[in-house]
Amino acid sequence: MIFDKSIKAFHEAQKHIPGGVNSPVRSFGSVGGNPPFIAKASGSKITDIDGNEYIDYVGSWGPMILGHAHPDVVKAIQETAALGASFGAPTELETEIAVLIKKLVPSIDMVRMVNSGTEATMSALRLARGYTGRNLVIKFEGCYHGHNDSFLIQAGSGALTFGTPNTPGVTPGTAHDTLIAQYNDLPSVERLFEDHKNEIAAVILEPITGNMGVIIPDQIFINGLRKLCDENKTVLIFDEVMTGFRIKKGCAQELLGITPDLTTFGKIIGGGLPVGAYGGKQEIMDMLAPKGPVYQAGTLSGNPLAMAAGITTLRLLDKTPDFYDNLENTSASLEEGLQNNMKELGFDGVINRVGSMFTLFFTKENSVKSFADVKKCDTTRFANYFKMSLQNGIYLAPSQYEAGFISAAHTKEDIQKTVEASYMAMKKLK
Ligand code: PLP
Repeated sequence: MIFDKSIKAFHEAQKHIPGGVNSPVRSFGSVGGNPPFIAKASGSKITDIDGNEYIDYVGSWGPMILGHAHPDVVKAIQETAALGASFGAPTELETEIAVLIKKLVPSIDMVRMVNSGTEATMSALRLARGYTGRNLVIKFEGCYHGHNDSFLIQAGSGALTFGTPNTPGVTPGTAHDTLIAQYNDLPSVERLFEDHKNEIAAVILEPITGNMGVIIPDQIFINGLRKLCDENKTVLIFDEVMTGFRIKKGCAQELLGITPDLTTFGKIIGGGLPVGAYGGKQEIMDMLAPKGPVYQAGTLSGNPLAMAAGITTLRLLDKTPDFYDNLENTSASLEEGLQNNMKELGFDGVINRVGSMFTLFFTKENSVKSFADVKKCDTTRFANYFKMSLQNGIYLAPSQYEAGFISAAHTKEDIQKTVEASYMAMKKLK
């Protein structure tokens, strides 16, 4: 593959944008090499400015569950744009998406739209603090909830990839209010509740993690969190920015059978446009301005284009027969192919997958169930696999600590080609 134009474009971008990118992990900093600059995308494929085509397993980090440039979503954006891009005044589209989200996720009585996942988690935490009158929040090491100060403490995703899980710039006071527990380790949470009686406003977690790679919670862990929050009158926040409408129509909370007090959304509900949302129990949501005293606002919140793209996407997920079953079948066939490759080649690795979210961990362990397990992975081996995959036309997330995403547009041929490319890469790496 030739990358001449992308190399030139990256060089130019670095003169004007820190690191040449507007979000760190896009720089390929942890895997090395030059990121392809993207020209266009359609269905399961993205094409770079040199004309190289890739089967895409990043999907813009999750939103593109229908595949790229779905004709209905494109049409909705075009038609809405022609009516005006933003008014800073209420539109019926905002009620329409709220009604849809409420219909699909029974724990949501009320929902407020914002512009990113970061805003959603930041606002949900403020609301939980306002509601409980308490300051502390428990988060889990390796979970990522956006780049709000309160959550850049032992964070996952790009923060972990770049070795800055605790970023400079967060004040000691803010860091002090965030308590860290271990994912899938209930006693680590119980200890914090014992040490901070009546002080913990919220527990926030990715109900199925994606930002340290995919980790599935033990049912005993997730049930225990619900119980602890109930006993301590603490708000349980499920951060479903990634898992929302990805795992199931009713999100990860449907799969796990848990009703959180608040849920945050992003990614899929914007159909590829900038969006976020948070919602939950009426009694808590009633605390928000203008009804209640907890302030939160946004010039572009509920933006018509994002609403139109999101509504169209959610309607398609809701109305397409067997949407999630089909996605599961495609995803299972990819997992099966990769498992067969590993078996045949005697290649060390663990695949964690829930529906269309998966991670291939480069590890000698038999399972990956905790952040400590994740940290044992061989990131150099991952980087080599990543580079070979890219050369073979497979676009993976450029970090071991991320999830891969399969879309409804991925075909049997895409999966076959991916499994073959993976076989060649694994064989070379053995
Ligand atoms: N929460 C989770 C679980 C995420 O995966 C992300 C982003 O990847 C965020 C929050 C932050 O969302 P955004 O990047 O839209 O600010």
